[in-house]
Amino acid sequence: MAKRRRSILAVLWTGLARGCPVCERRGLFEHWLTMAERCPRCEFRFERREGQFIGAVGMNTVVTFAAVLGVLIIGMILTLPDIPVVELTTVTLVISIALPIAFYPSSKTLWGGIDLLLSPLEPGESTWTVEGPIEQ
Ligand SMILES: [Zn+2]
Repeated sequence: MAKRRRSILAVLWTGLARGCPVCERRGLFEHWLTMAERCPRCEFRFERREGQFIGAVGMNTVVTFAAVLGVLIIGMILTLPDIPVVELTTVTLVISIALPIAFYPSSKTLWGGIDLLLSPLEPGESTWTVEGPIEQ
């Protein structure tokens, strides 16, 4: 199999699309909130070290906060001087509840990609490298 070069953006995109950061396989979630421990194709263990996914939680929090803040600011600017406080509060409340749940799977795989970029694969972590399967 030909080796493939993957850019930083490709690794991040794969993570955002809920794919394995090593081999890009999709379908890593049994349910929306339940991620497989290892990739079924390349055997990469997603939680490489204990507590690794705290970064995903942090990223999810930042994304949600940014979305709520953005909606508040844009909503206030567009409706000045009569700001609809109840409607804006309702919309931001729905966003603050729904977005972390909706973004949860992507936050885990995206964080896995970021972690892989920061600390490359060690021998034995996967049957693949980011360039493709390890030939034996
Ligand atoms: Zn994989």
